[in-house]
Amino acid sequence: MSHPLPMFNLAPAHAPRSVVVPRTPEEVAAAVRAAAAAGEQVHPIGAGHGWARPIEGGVALLTRELAGVQVDAAAARARVGAGTTWAQVIAAAAPHGLAPLAGSAPAVGVIGYLLGGGLSPLGRTYGWAADHVRSFEIVTGTGELVTASASSHPDLFAALLGGKHAPGVVTAAEIDMVPLHAVYGGGLFFDAADAEAVLGEWAAWSARMPDEVNTSAALLRLPDLPSVPEPLRGRCVVHVRVAIVGDESTGRALLEPIRKVARPIVDTVATLPVAAIGAVHADPEEPMPVLEAGALLASFDLDAVRALLGAAGPQVEAPLAVVEVRRLGGRLAQPPSRPDAVAGRDAAYGLFVVSAPVPELFAGPVPAAVGGLARALAPWASGRFQPNFVGALNQPTALDAAWPDEVRARLEQVRRSYDPAGVINH
Ligand SMILES: Cc1cc2nc3c(=O)[nH]c(=O)nc-3n(C[C@H](O)[C@H](O)[C@H](O)COP(=O)(O)OP(=O)(O)OC[C@H]3O[C@@H](n4cnc5c(N)ncnc54)[C@H](O)[C@@H]3O)c2cc1C
Repeated sequence: MSHPLPMFNLAPAHAPRSVVVPRTPEEVAAAVRAAAAAGEQVHPIGAGHGWARPIEGGVALLTRELAGVQVDAAAARARVGAGTTWAQVIAAAAPHGLAPLAGSAPAVGVIGYLLGGGLSPLGRTYGWAADHVRSFEIVTGTGELVTASASSHPDLFAALLGGKHAPGVVTAAEIDMVPLHAVYGGGLFFDAADAEAVLGEWAAWSARMPDEVNTSAALLRLPDLPSVPEPLRGRCVVHVRVAIVGDESTGRALLEPIRKVARPIVDTVATLPVAAIGAVHADPEEPMPVLEAGALLASFDLDAVRALLGAAGPQVEAPLAVVEVRRLGGRLAQPPSRPDAVAGRDAAYGLFVVSAPVPELFAGPVPAAVGGLARALAPWASGRFQPNFVGALNQPTALDAAWPDEVRARLEQVRRSYDPAGVINH
């Protein structure tokens, strides 16, 4: 029987055998031990933004009762309970002039995001969110409460920094934040007719920008719904997003080539309080059924733009709501200061595709469109994947291909040590 769980993606029908909502780490440990004794798997659930496949059987463990944020403003640090969303951390940090390295959508869960590495719209300037984690508190697959940090269980800590599937249930994380009040940020929306000119210029511009410039570009097919503001409603548009760390005049000068390439339909780029960082991508907030896929790209140039538009551009009847390319590089490309498992440091761009929210198209047209796009962009693909951007439409082998063999072997070793019976879903 399918079970309603608090998930953003409504496509998979979940059917856990039971649902538990522990209020303390000790209750988490008791739930894990009980599941292990019953030979069942535990599925930890944060804010529900990452479940692309159905949960079948086992115990759905909702972490929401562990949520909470304590900010140590003097140390620019926060302790964040599992089940907390980035919106809660952003709100707690902003009055102190601090910002966490949250993702594009504030409703995403902190722990799931950190476990995947955490690609922030501030990432080129400050690095991966996992680079700013001090420690995790975790109930391991054997039901033990452990603190993982650089000095305590360092093998486990390295695996949790980007290894995606934890060999346990994380109950809290301690993170560093950056001193930041505002960015020069927002979005420029261009008409579909300007797609090649805008994306071509964006590809060249984004490749040469300094680390202060964080940017992505997306081809959006926006629904004809009241939730979409005019004049964007029901249109296909190119959405260039920026979050520039610097003052307004510097930001304006850096962004000028994009503003000049065509006349934007809507231009929201201005000084933006960092508490409103979600406005940069303006991701949808309402749960919906979608299929997704992602890939990392070694480069993205004018030929890649043409290939992308040929496969999924405005002239093509493609059931794809979002085709997004994010610029990586900058501090995201820096080697880590300690062992970790973050995937994507060596990629120049990340591609992410979200289907139209129309389940009738999921069996044939959506996979065909995504497959066509993947084939068209294959010459630019790095062959690796960022785990936070692997979706149901990726090949089952994509997650394995996220990491080099040496890192994958390390992750498997850590799993064998901390969850030898495979109690935690992975
Ligand atoms: C609209 C949208 C925008 C996004 N933007 C970004 C972005 O900008 N950058 C980025 O890096 N990612 C982004 N993501 C991906 C997102 O970071 C991952 O899907 C993340 O795993 C979501 O975490 P969650 O708690 O919301 O999801 P959940 O579905 O609750 O969990 C996702 C995964 O994390 C595991 N997990 C969650 N909590 C725990 C825990 N306490 N202990 C152990 N395992 C746990 C779950 O078992 C599951 O495997 C986005 C996703 C969406 C839907």
